[in-house]
Amino acid sequence: MFTSNADPSRLGMVPWPDDAVARYVAKGYWAGRSLGEHLASADVDPDEICLVDGDVRLSRRDLMSRADGAAVRLRELGLAPDDRVVVQLPNCWELVVLMTACLRLGAIPVMALPAHRRREISTVARHAQATMLAVPDVSRDFDLQAMAHEVAAETPTVRHVLVLGDTRPGGVDLRALCEPAHDPVVAGKELDAIAPDARAIALFFLSGGTTGMPKLIPRTHNDFAYMATQAARICGVGPGSTYLAALPLGHGFPLSGPGVFGTLIAGGRVVIAASPAPERALPLIECERVTITSLVPAAIGRWIEYHETNPGTDLSSLRLLQSGGARLPDQVAVRITPVLRCTLQQVYGMSEGLLCLTRPDDPEEVIRHTQGRPVCPDDELRLVDDQGRPVGPDEPGILLTRGPYTPRGYYRAEELNRRAFVDDGWYRTGDIVCIRRDGNVVIEGRDKDVINRGGEKIPAEEVEHAAYLSGGVRLAAAVAMPDPELGERICLYAVPHAGHTVTLDGVRAAMSAAGVAGFKLPERLVIVEHLPFTNVGKVDKNALRADLQQRLANAVPS
Ligand code: AMP
Repeated sequence: MFTSNADPSRLGMVPWPDDAVARYVAKGYWAGRSLGEHLASADVDPDEICLVDGDVRLSRRDLMSRADGAAVRLRELGLAPDDRVVVQLPNCWELVVLMTACLRLGAIPVMALPAHRRREISTVARHAQATMLAVPDVSRDFDLQAMAHEVAAETPTVRHVLVLGDTRPGGVDLRALCEPAHDPVVAGKELDAIAPDARAIALFFLSGGTTGMPKLIPRTHNDFAYMATQAARICGVGPGSTYLAALPLGHGFPLSGPGVFGTLIAGGRVVIAASPAPERALPLIECERVTITSLVPAAIGRWIEYHETNPGTDLSSLRLLQSGGARLPDQVAVRITPVLRCTLQQVYGMSEGLLCLTRPDDPEEVIRHTQGRPVCPDDELRLVDDQGRPVGPDEPGILLTRGPYTPRGYYRAEELNRRAFVDDGWYRTGDIVCIRRDGNVVIEGRDKDVINRGGEKIPAEEVEHAAYLSGGVRLAAAVAMPDPELGERICLYAVPHAGHTVTLDGVRAAMSAAGVAGFKLPERLVIVEHLPFTNVGKVDKNALRADLQQRLANAVPS
């Protein structure tokens, strides 16, 4: 057992202060075991199936043997503890095996999305000093394998590209890497002996923006395991539970809220869906008797519509449907139980840590109208105004938070950390919320300049920077455009250079050519002669949002 942080400076991590560490350990939140140890020692029948992906059905024994086999082979390829692996894989069993292998070894997965493109991956790989990249051969007709080799060629630390699927010369076949260990007992012992310190970084999540310095969120074995197991406890996940992983696994929500890792550690079973598309996900619920899943509100809307028009699927096993990542419209919330016949759980969380959940036995009013309360009694929440002053009781404010699974800073980002982690290590969420007297949080709005497109967060600044790539743009400002399907889409206001014509297609093509992910491309362009400015000289986004509302209401063309 320990009472202080492991040499976090070695890895560019901001430590929790010693008194907080002592409290988290004394209260049992930090169990002092690595995630690999949690997984290897879960109290389950080793022959019971715990991971399903299409025809592949892995027992706990198979999963650990494959993870250990992969860990041994990764070691042979030179992967060492603390090395970073950018994981840019679709939802598949190999992703779980690769992550588990890294966690066993003490190597650190950096969770990217298949939708990311060269610009994002190369910035992240450079900042993380990644030694390996893991990609599928192609994704939606895009050659990610070729892209990964290009990134590898320009990133001196990257030594290997692991490829899922048709592996070309120069790549490492990920599926072969994930074969079971030759001697599982020997491999297991070898890896147990080098189990990483639970205070070390287990994985990195990416936070929205990758302009300039990307934000890597370091999550330790201790904090991640606590959050995932606590979420599992609250959701009643354990042996006999089946979690459907349908959201992209690069996100924290489907990995740890309780997600894949909370479920596996608690002794449950995980079924992987390639996407949340209802025509494929709903039949999986029926045939695998799924009990819990998590979605963003846009996907829930699609499920409801699909099930209403194709009511044949038996969803009676589904107990809990988690909705998070974006605001759940009330008109969707009211239809969940009548149509899908399960309990709704609202989830407000962030890759930076804090996780709020409504409880399954909360009154209907709480489940419908709030985003729940923190999962840990030692999660601290306080609200401030835009000057950092406390707001009065019952007033909305910008949420600041600290706690046993909310890190105290981004990885190697001193300047950014001074703004994002204020006072005494409080993470400034940028969300404007109310905290009700019963402790439940209600999200009222946002103070940060981010667009939430169906749960994917896109910093406006990143769109604006990329828009200048099209050449003809003199000034650019991106704002959220309300959208009935995705909640928000990106609208770009642009002032062209004199004599230039700027078109939506032109801006999108220039951004794509520069390697920007498709979900960050604007979907509406408004050409203006001037942008409005506030009296401190910033673009007045409120004025732009009001202008956009008017255009939408009056159906004014761009
Ligand atoms: P991410 O780190 O990508 O998970 O994004 C976290 C952010 O998503 C939060 O800071 C919120 O702005 C937003 N968010 C998460 N859950 C909800 C929710 N239930 N309702 C509204 N916004 C949410």
